Amino acid sequence: MEEIKKHDVKAFAYLDQINKEKWTASHDGGWRCGILTTNISECINGVLKGARRLPVSALVEITLERTVHYFHVRAIKGKKMLQNNQLWTDFACKMFISWQQKAVEHTVTKYSHAQQSASVQTRRQGRHGMNTHVIKIANRECSCGKWNQFGIPCSHGQKVCGAYNISAASMVKDYYDVMAYNNTYSKHFEPVQSEDYWDEPNFQLVHDPIIRTVTRPGRNQTTRIHNEMDWRQTRARQEAQQQQGDFSIQENVS
Ligand SMILES: [Zn+2]
Repeated sequence: MEEIKKHDVKAFAYLDQINKEKWTASHDGGWRCGILTTNISECINGVLKGARRLPVSALVEITLERTVHYFHVRAIKGKKMLQNNQLWTDFACKMFISWQQKAVEHTVTKYSHAQQSASVQTRRQGRHGMNTHVIKIANRECSCGKWNQFGIPCSHGQKVCGAYNISAASMVKDYYDVMAYNNTYSKHFEPVQSEDYWDEPNFQLVHDPIIRTVTRPGRNQTTRIHNEMDWRQTRARQEAQQQQGDFSIQENVS
């Protein structure tokens, strides 16, 4: 904070009034790698792919154009889901049903009616399975972590819901609701008129070519904090490279 204060007192005063856990990695208790944050930034990156490093006016135009398209496609999808009387979005439906089918194979032991807690044992499948998970319906949590992560009762959670005669479907988070999806994407954008009809700006844009000069060769290093998604990609890349290496060795031998 002292460093910021040295650079800009106004910025310091502005930041100082905001709870530090909202904007610093060191005070947020480890949530900086949270999947929700990652998904939002990945989503924005996905929409704007290819638009980076364009002039400002082109960047604004392409941002608007792609956002309008993004909303338009999802608005149609939302209407279709409503017409089909679908309860949740495709993602949630698929995940809920897949876990529902898996739950059939689990064995449940009830512990406390007050907490609606239980343990669930999974079936052995080759080298996998035979795991025990702890579920507390009242807290909507399972020790496997999936319920917390996705907001949808995992196969273990669904098994325990069944054992206590609770509707697992009622435990799915509201944001998967088709109505919520439809409300999000049914908003419309106003078409933008040609530049000739715009108001005259009360400022002047100054072009400074020095700012745009890229001096370093090679790929820029990312400052984004890597998380489990990146680790998975790196591992997949390494495995693919390893397989390629094995294949070329086999070819040479034969
Ligand atoms: Zn679970």
